Amino acid sequence: MSRPVPRPTALSRPFWDAAAEGRLVLPHCAACGLTFFAPEPACPGCLSRDWVHVPSPGTGTVYSVTVVHRAPGPGFEVPFALAVVDLDEGVAMLSHVVGCPVDDVVIGLRVRVDFRPLTGDVTLPYFVPA
Ligand SMILES: [Zn+2]
Repeated sequence: MSRPVPRPTALSRPFWDAAAEGRLVLPHCAACGLTFFAPEPACPGCLSRDWVHVPSPGTGTVYSVTVVHRAPGPGFEVPFALAVVDLDEGVAMLSHVVGCPVDDVVIGLRVRVDFRPLTGDVTLPYFVPA
C-alpha cells in the first residue's frame, strides 16, 4: 500500500492545479474580503458564494507542532514535523515542515510554502524554514 492521496473535488481543483504549478492559492470572498481555507461552498464569514482563489505568498509562522514518530499509515517516512502554520493572510494550514531537523521546528518559526510531488497528478504544499 502507498500513502493516501488527496482527491481533488470541484471546490478544491483550483487549489491542487495551482499546487502542481508551484503556486499557493487561497479562497477569498469578493463580498466581505475574508480569506479562508479550506475551500467551502460559501464564505464562512458572510455565507456569500461569490469567492475566488487568489494567490498567496505562502509565508507564515508555526502556531503549533508535534513530531510524529509512528507512521500514521504506509508510505510515511518518520519522524516528521506536523505543524499548524498560521499564514500571513490569517488562515491556518496543517502540513509538514521539512528541510531541517524535526527538532528545529518550534512554535514561532517563520516558514514558507514549498511544494513536493506526491504522485504524477498530486503535489502537496509543505513548509520549510523561511
Ligand atoms: Zn464573505
